[in-house]
Amino acid sequence: MQPKNNNFIKYIPIIAGSILLIVFGLLALNINSNTGSNTDSKTKNQSALPDLFKKKPSPLSVEKFCEKYQTIGRNLQPWNQESLSEEEVLVKTQTPEVDVPLSLNAVALPNINDEARKAKVPVVMYHDILPKKEVFFDVTPEELEADFELIKSKGVTPISLDQLVIHLRTGSPLPEKPILLTFDDGYGGHYEYVFPLLQKFNYPAVFSVYTKNMGINTGRSHVTWEQLKIMADDPLVTIAGHSKTHPPDLTKLSDEELVPEIVESKELLEENLGESILYFTYPTGKNDARVRKLVGEAGYLAALAMDVNVADEDFAGESENLLAIKRFGQSRLERLVNRASGGKELSCSEHTSQPTSQPIPES
Ligand SMILES: [Zn+2]
Repeated sequence: MQPKNNNFIKYIPIIAGSILLIVFGLLALNINSNTGSNTDSKTKNQSALPDLFKKKPSPLSVEKFCEKYQTIGRNLQPWNQESLSEEEVLVKTQTPEVDVPLSLNAVALPNINDEARKAKVPVVMYHDILPKKEVFFDVTPEELEADFELIKSKGVTPISLDQLVIHLRTGSPLPEKPILLTFDDGYGGHYEYVFPLLQKFNYPAVFSVYTKNMGINTGRSHVTWEQLKIMADDPLVTIAGHSKTHPPDLTKLSDEELVPEIVESKELLEENLGESILYFTYPTGKNDARVRKLVGEAGYLAALAMDVNVADEDFAGESENLLAIKRFGQSRLERLVNRASGGKELSCSEHTSQPTSQPIPES
């Protein structure tokens, strides 16, 4: 016995050394694979573990998911932001204790799925929120709170822009009466009044920010980078690019002038907020094929527009594509809460061979 043990002891340093080499090798590989990638957003704060050591469950198709869990539900959330632009979007469902993503087939970017065109999702646009109104589209904090109460009392569910994009790309259902709240131009009132109200009501929202006026007062206050970072770190908040200088009409700019407005504004937001900026909002809504093309090429996944004529406003599913999502002015809210609908439910009974109801045993 003695010699055998000695033999084994002799090899311990070699075995331990090999294990260490493998671990360092894996870590180095992971560091290399992370260099230059800027796709993580809110997920980056959740864990400092290298990707290789994270549990990576393989996604299930609707059929497989239904076989295993029987129900999908309506309130689908993104599993991660990485898959939002891919052919198969990964989502979390409301099914309790499910730790695998559901994989949904998506139409090619920037198209909208035909099934999503049957839903009615209003995207509502607010500008400044301040105690004393100066223009007709200013809203006071009290009015905004009344709007939030109206949304609640009508059983309407505010969703995130990620959720809307999943829906528009895959045709997957949204909550029965969905709405997307958006706030343009990065006003100080967004931090002071809107952000606390979103937290109080647990409502997600989009803030579209142009970078030139950060932290300065132009007769109206604008959010500081510090305030915007606090907002961006809250999972309820999505920050969208809104150009650098807010030109009144991007379609009138040369290609050279467009680059800082569309590309550099994205980089500035990403550097300051430490997250990917996936969405753009056209200043005053103006866009054309050339502007939309550059927005897509810059790496934005979708863009919010607006119509000058109220008669042209419509639900998100009526948009031409993801790079020109239609919106309504906030004064139309009362009418919209009664019309919102989240599309057809993804029913497991259509995706499994199991009978939808069990025969009742005779007694
Ligand atoms: Zn604007």
